[in-house]
Amino acid sequence: MPLYRDEAVVLRTHKLGEADRIITLLTRQHGRVRAVAKGVRRTTSRWGSRLEPFTHVDLQLAEGRSLDVITQAETLEPFNARLGLDYDRYTAGTVMLETAERLVTEEKEPAVQQFLLLVGGLRAMAGGEHPAKQVLDSYLLRSLSVAGYAPSFDHCVQCGIEGPHRFFNPSAGGVLCASDRLPGSATPASETVVLLGALLVGDWPVVHAADPRHLREASNLVTAYLSWHLERGLRSMAYVER
Ligand SMILES: [Zn+2]
Repeated sequence: MPLYRDEAVVLRTHKLGEADRIITLLTRQHGRVRAVAKGVRRTTSRWGSRLEPFTHVDLQLAEGRSLDVITQAETLEPFNARLGLDYDRYTAGTVMLETAERLVTEEKEPAVQQFLLLVGGLRAMAGGEHPAKQVLDSYLLRSLSVAGYAPSFDHCVQCGIEGPHRFFNPSAGGVLCASDRLPGSATPASETVVLLGALLVGDWPVVHAADPRHLREASNLVTAYLSWHLERGLRSMAYVER
């Protein structure tokens, strides 16, 4: 079987037979890959915690007929250990993993930007410099943008006129001016719209200075925007208090 190397973030694992697991990975060069880890569920497993969700690993894989097989794994960054100590960061991180899996839809189709965004997002989540919910919101807006659903928070998505605009509609893809507004649009505070723009570009001083009310409103709009673009809601989102 031909071998290849890649680095990856472990997105998800599930049981296979008595002692094995199927590991769903987002790799740097090969996009989303599902691979078998043999003997990983034995207590004496040589894999340790290297193939648990969140872990950033360096891997060697053997190409298989249906699934590839992991033959070597080395931890690059143990995000699982750090996130496991903090419930808010852990649950928000879980939403990131699920989002990455849902937005990278094709197996073995390179998705380098999504990979780099996820590693950067998990690093920020594990680092603790910024609040967990805002790291999550920023990641969600950016990963949706990379997937082709970039929201607009300044120009009206209909006519392009520059804001600030009061109306936000997830189905339209962002803010709308008064003449283009759609029925049922949200009317967030102007501070919230500015905050959403800051989350999208990672302007952390603006995020840190924001009022809790606007942070909450922004989180709800990010969730609405994400739900609109994913066919089914995220299971993991239920655990994150919005
Ligand atoms: Zn307009």
